[in-house]
Amino acid sequence: MTLPIVAIIGRPNVGKSTLVNRLAGVNDAIVHDEPGITRDRTYRPAFWQDREYMVVDTGGLVFDDDTEFLPLIREQAMAALAESQAAILVVDGQAGPMPADEAIADWMRQQTVPVVLAVNKCESPQQGIIQAAQFWELGLGEPFPVSAIHGGGTGELLDQLITHLPTVGELPDTPEIKVAIIGRPNVGKSSLLNALTGEKRAIVSPISGTTRDAIDMVVERPGNPEKGIEDKTYRLIDTAGIRKKKNVEYGAEFFGINRAFKAIRRSDVVLLVIDALDGVTEQDQKLAGRIAEEGRAAIIVVNKWDAVEKDSYTIYEHEKLILDRLNFIEWAEIIFISALTGKRVENILDLVDTAALSHQRRVSTATINQVIQDAINWHSPPTSRQGRQGKIYYGTQVRSQPPTIALFVNDPKRFNDNYRRYVEGKFRQQLGFTGTPIRFLWRGKK
Ligand code: GDP
Ligand code: GDP
Repeated sequence: MTLPIVAIIGRPNVGKSTLVNRLAGVNDAIVHDEPGITRDRTYRPAFWQDREYMVVDTGGLVFDDDTEFLPLIREQAMAALAESQAAILVVDGQAGPMPADEAIADWMRQQTVPVVLAVNKCESPQQGIIQAAQFWELGLGEPFPVSAIHGGGTGELLDQLITHLPTVGELPDTPEIKVAIIGRPNVGKSSLLNALTGEKRAIVSPISGTTRDAIDMVVERPGNPEKGIEDKTYRLIDTAGIRKKKNVEYGAEFFGINRAFKAIRRSDVVLLVIDALDGVTEQDQKLAGRIAEEGRAAIIVVNKWDAVEKDSYTIYEHEKLILDRLNFIEWAEIIFISALTGKRVENILDLVDTAALSHQRRVSTATINQVIQDAINWHSPPTSRQGRQGKIYYGTQVRSQPPTIALFVNDPKRFNDNYRRYVEGKFRQQLGFTGTPIRFLWRGKK
């Protein structure tokens, strides 16, 4: 499920990043970073009422200046806009309309993306109406006075914005589970794919991926009606196969970590394949970090277990070591296999099923509030030096894939990392969610 993107545009210093922080909540994890040349494009999750979206700060859009980096900044803003479902044009209400605002507005009117006009720095409601009115002349419809710093007016702005965004629909019936097989070269990805698609399974068709980065294989697994298990379909996204066929054409560099990143993006569940003989390397940690950032479910597949000398403790020692080093995905299940002999390969798909279910799971608000109540009863939220105590009013799951829980509190600043980790740990402990990351959004009152 990809969320609609909302681009924040406007000339420098009008308060774009302040507004992004206001919409996304200052403390939320940054979900995705694409290294830009002058400024990173950062995507952050946000929601208003029943709509969810990703908000992206474009880093300024200038037309009437001739600094060297200008074309690059502009290009970035345009690229962000091209993938957006809606945009917020931010202007400075205290400064009034500037030629640069007009240039941007002229350009925006030629785009197909719907635009909502935010007149920022309007701290006083009475004056704000007057300040905002000056911007009707931009020809972008109603100007909404807001204060990004204090949050004033953002409700009306967002009410208007979400008319351009799709609602969070019911989960689509996932006809197939998309499984990415990733890992360093030579850990055994191709061997695993072969083992998974072995003779006894019906391979429906090898399908080439939407990009040339991966080869998809669709595999069917018959269910067991007597046990109430349905037939299942898996789309295996293999990042290794194509390398073997095409490396002459593209060279080795082409098949680096970016292809793994793309495969992660397209998947529901990631099989992170580790070589039992090498253990966890820095590259494996990078991949694990990306899995967590993208919010994908995952299973740690330790391959070549046949080649490891072992006694009855070996597996526990390995497990501890591996999970320690892959702490980004410490929630993932770990399985020791041999793609060569086929040992335990069968069991991987059972773990995939469990992880995919957790990833899609929805928990009722009542259950979430029980967990909160229980957490508070054991440990009350911290009290500030002024004697004000943090309060969690309630929580609710705002999305799945990955499960995302919003906690509405009196003031997010009163909840330090320690306490947040404690509460988040309670959710993990009481609700399970095996194999999937969980996201938490700590929201203050608007
Ligand atoms: P950007 O360059 O458009 O991303 O702008 P910033 O978010 O960095 O803000 C530029 C300046 O405007 C900073 O000094 C902010 O503190 C200030 N600013 C941002 N939002 C507001 C607001 O709502 N009211 C006032 N008075 N100042 C603001
Ligand atoms: P890929 O680059 O990740 O696709 O790795 P391959 O599937 O091509 O495997 C790399 C090498 O590891 C080959 O020589 C395989 O025979 C070997 N290999 C793969 N799986 C296993 C395994 O389970 N046990 C052992 N001992 N070797 C394996």
